[in-house]
Amino acid sequence: MEKRYVIGVDLGGTKISTALAELNGNIISEYTIPTNAAGGEQEVLGRILSAIEKVLALGDKKVDEIKSIGIGSPGPLDSKKGIILETPNLPFENFHLVKPIEERFKIPTYLENDANAAAIGEFMFGAGKNTKNMVYITVSTGIGAGAIVDGRIYRGNTCNALELGHTTILPEGPRCNCGNYGCLEALASGTAIARIANEKLKAGAESSLKSYEVVTSYEVFEEARKGDKLSSDIIDKSLEYLGIGVSNIITIMDPEIVVLGGGVSLAGEIVFDKVNKVINKRCFKVLRENCRVVPAALVKQSGVIGAVALAIMESQ
Ligand SMILES: [Zn+2]
Repeated sequence: MEKRYVIGVDLGGTKISTALAELNGNIISEYTIPTNAAGGEQEVLGRILSAIEKVLALGDKKVDEIKSIGIGSPGPLDSKKGIILETPNLPFENFHLVKPIEERFKIPTYLENDANAAAIGEFMFGAGKNTKNMVYITVSTGIGAGAIVDGRIYRGNTCNALELGHTTILPEGPRCNCGNYGCLEALASGTAIARIANEKLKAGAESSLKSYEVVTSYEVFEEARKGDKLSSDIIDKSLEYLGIGVSNIITIMDPEIVVLGGGVSLAGEIVFDKVNKVINKRCFKVLRENCRVVPAALVKQSGVIGAVALAIMESQ
């Protein structure tokens, strides 16, 4: 039977999203279930297998019509071996995820970290269409990135290239979840913005943020927009660090575009204005004049479309 479809699986700490798609990325059916990570690795594996079966049934397709399966997962992982090494929100540790899926369905299956999968999605179907060299950066609770070099995803030696969130921006900076100090993620992620705001409030700073019971990065952006001084200062500093991170990646990779995705990038103009200002100050003219920083096109579906795109790219 002609294999004209692929399946994408976006594996997250809270939900597993699957999509059945044509080879042009057009989605035929979708199915999402809770991950139930607390149930352990066999439980989660079982849920992935049954979600794949369900999305096939919903799309009215058979296993032998499927060309490949792509899985996007938080890392670190070994995509060449199909193993999830470890990840904070999932029960897997050195877990061979690809093998049982290939054994069950007899379909070539590819595993990739979720930022790389999202990068492939933007490259094939989003803001990176018609480019050859692209960097994708997601800024939300954490900061992740993926690079397309000459039309292919760049993995590096251990498949963990482009851990932009864990590059050191401030040597004496705050401790990061990874153990290092002054990582970009500890300075400019949504989590970092919220942490800094809450620390300042606790220390007695005057701010309209005091009227909120819970302050996340969303409230800090909101109040900054309304002119609150503390919020504006926090956002300005965080975006300065983000801009330095983006400038560094432009200087290293010389991409045609940098695609900014994730929750923080949804704040829009304020983010892009500041990041562009920093790039103008810090990058060579030839680099900055030949690179655009653009918003992601697939924000809400970046995970599952990224997994679909991974399946298509790897099966070509
Ligand atoms: Zn770190």
